[in-house]
Amino acid sequence: MLQQTRVDTVVPYFERFMARFPTPLALAEAPEDQVLAAWSGLGYYRRARMLHAGARAVVERSSMPHDREGLLALPGIGRYTAGAIASIAFDEAVGLVDGNVARVFARLFALDDDMRGAGMKRAEKLAEELVPEERPGDWNQALMELGATVCTPRSPSCERCPVAASCRARREGRVDELPVVREKAKPKPQRVQALVARTKDGRVLLARRRSTGLFAGLWEPPSLDGGEAAKDELLARFALVAPARLAGRVTHVLSHRRLAVDVHAGVLARRPAGAKLPDAYETAGLFAEADLVDLGVSTLARKILASARPAPRAARRSR
Ligand code: SF4
Repeated sequence: MLQQTRVDTVVPYFERFMARFPTPLALAEAPEDQVLAAWSGLGYYRRARMLHAGARAVVERSSMPHDREGLLALPGIGRYTAGAIASIAFDEAVGLVDGNVARVFARLFALDDDMRGAGMKRAEKLAEELVPEERPGDWNQALMELGATVCTPRSPSCERCPVAASCRARREGRVDELPVVREKAKPKPQRVQALVARTKDGRVLLARRRSTGLFAGLWEPPSLDGGEAAKDELLARFALVAPARLAGRVTHVLSHRRLAVDVHAGVLARRPAGAKLPDAYETAGLFAEADLVDLGVSTLARKILASARPAPRAARRSR
C-alpha cells in the first residue's frame, strides 16, 4: 500500500484491510471483488491484485520464502520489496534502493547518470557492495532514513549529515545538481464519455472491466474513450426512456493520462440484459447505492457517480 501512497492516507486502509484479511489464507480465499472493494479508493489497483496473487502463492507453497530469491518469485514482489523484506525481516545481507537511497548514493558518489536509467543500475550495484553482513536490515533502513530526513531532495542538511566528510557532491559543490533525473513524460489528455444509467427505482448500472488493462476487474459506469462520436456510440448501446443529459464533467489524472470525462445521465427503459456493453467490459449489473461498499469501485468511478447523483426529492420539488 505504501508504494505510491503516503503513510497518513494508507493507515486507515491498512487497518481495515488487516481486520478483513488477517492472514495470507484469509486473503487467498477471498474473491477478487472483495479484495478490490477493500482497496477501493487507494488507486493503483494492480497492487491489490498482485497482493492477492502473492497470498495465493504463499498459501500454495505453505510458507513465506525467507530469502530475496524466493521472494522475487512471488507475484507482485519486485527488487526493492524483496530486498526490504529479506534484509529487515530475515536478516539477509542484500541491498536495496528506493528513491531516498538513490538520492543519497547519487550525491555521496557523484553519480552523473540518469537515476531513471543507468544511474539506478549503478546505485543498485553500490547497494549490493556496501551492505554489511551484520544487521543488514538496520543498514538499509538507516540509508532510507538518511535520504528521507537529512539528504532531502531540496535543501539537504549537510551540516548535520553523518557521512558529510565522504560526500563527493558536497566536496565538489554539486549537491544541487544531483541526482540527475530525466523529466517524466507529461500525462496525455484523453477525452472519455461515461453513462450513469439508473432504473426508475434508483439502482445504478455498473459494468465490470475485463481482467487486464486499465482499472482491470473494477466496477464503473460504462464508458468509451473519445469525443462526440464515442458519446453517440455509447448512448446507442443502452435503451433509455429519454435522451441522456450531460450531468457534469470530471477530470482525473493517472500516471500517463489526464482523463476528461463527460458524464451523461439517463433512466433505463429496461434491464441491462439487452444492452451491448463496450468491449472493455465483461459483465454488468444493477446496484443500490448501499451495495457499492462491497464492490471494487475506482475513485474515478466514484467521482463520475457523484457528478450524476440525482437531486434529493425535496430539492427537486423546490426548483
Ligand atoms: S553531505 Fe549533504 S549531499 Fe552529501 S550525503 Fe550528506 S546530506 Fe546528502
